[in-house]
Amino acid sequence: QRANTINMNAGPSPLPDAALLTAAASLLSYPDTPGMGIAEISHRSSAFDQVVANANKDLRQLLDIPDNYHVLWMQGGGLTQFAATVLNLAAWYRTKHQLTADDDVEGWYAVTGSWSKKAAEEGTRMGVTARTVFDGKKHGKDNKFTSIAPVDAWDVPQLEENSRKPAFIYYCDNETVDGVEFGAPDSDSAFPFDKFDPAIPVVADMSSNFLSRPVDVSKYGIIYAGAQKNLGPAGVTLVIVRDDLLVDLDEAVKYGAGRVPSMLSYKNMADTNSMFNTPPTFTIYVCSLVLRSLLESPPLPLSSPDARPLSPLSDFADQKSALVYSELDASEGFYIGTADKEARSRMNVTFRLPTGGEPLEKAFVKEASERGIKGVNGHRSVGGIRTSIYNAVTLDDVKKLVAFMREFRDKNA
Ligand code: PMP
Repeated sequence: QRANTINMNAGPSPLPDAALLTAAASLLSYPDTPGMGIAEISHRSSAFDQVVANANKDLRQLLDIPDNYHVLWMQGGGLTQFAATVLNLAAWYRTKHQLTADDDVEGWYAVTGSWSKKAAEEGTRMGVTARTVFDGKKHGKDNKFTSIAPVDAWDVPQLEENSRKPAFIYYCDNETVDGVEFGAPDSDSAFPFDKFDPAIPVVADMSSNFLSRPVDVSKYGIIYAGAQKNLGPAGVTLVIVRDDLLVDLDEAVKYGAGRVPSMLSYKNMADTNSMFNTPPTFTIYVCSLVLRSLLESPPLPLSSPDARPLSPLSDFADQKSALVYSELDASEGFYIGTADKEARSRMNVTFRLPTGGEPLEKAFVKEASERGIKGVNGHRSVGGIRTSIYNAVTLDDVKKLVAFMREFRDKNA
């Protein structure tokens, strides 16, 4: 039994108790390998093979992943994927079009916040021309990442019949620092797939809203997510990649199409069932338990027999974040949400306390912490307040946060 702490950290963040209790017991002795803990067995053992097989199966069910997609467990966190996506896709594109590494290749970036901005910068470092097709800062309040304009206001180049297409289009589904999120699939604020040539693979960073709503995987080339929010402990990054985008490293080198470090090659990972080297076995095991818990005990029941398995989590996230947003909107300017209403994140609710500025924000964080509400300070790059409401944060936790916010306002308004 843990202390009654409300953990609103942005990541690593809380995980379901049931998964952690099983993981703790399995550290000492794993049921399939009595006397040996899960962190003490070979990654080449049949017991660990089974862990990965179960995790993949559950993830495929939860996200309805089509057969022509691979599920990969990689290392190096989200930041490593900023480079890996580019290196793999540039080599894929150049191989496909018989180009060499000297030929310019574009990657198009929708820059809606701090993480996609960093990804675009890494893209440039990795040798593609990273073209910003949307710059959220230009459209946002006070030159900040506060909104996602409709695609008609984006700077998407018109491609001539014979002109070279970009190797990929990249975006971040939920900007953890800025509290800006694309809408659910098929909503007006969803990523505008239909405005782009479907032959161009779309890459999405879903690190901070992974497993929070259904996703139409078939629309993507690559989806990736660092584990440490909704999936499990830090140390592993889940990558879902379409089969035709895999590129043979030796071929790519032979034709001068580019170089991809072996550990970053999606083909290597797919060919070895994510066991190209020693993977973070314990982390993957905990992820497998979290996935199981989402299937076995979702926070809300499925609303209809044909609803998708993540629909309850989506409703749950809507319900929880709406409580905090209503509190902001009812506060008569005491709390000001930083994101525009249409782009508000269901995972990371960011706001400021304009009447008292930074000193009042500091007091808010301190008093929240004294109440057992932890981790509500904004990211160090932007300041302010950020309450992160991932899957393992309960409705009761959010109600307590809201009660605290109301009290704090009554006292300081
Ligand atoms: N993308 C997003 C959306 C993130 O939230 C983060 C980290 N919080 C990253 C990328 C970077 O991930 P990592 O720290 O695992 O490299």
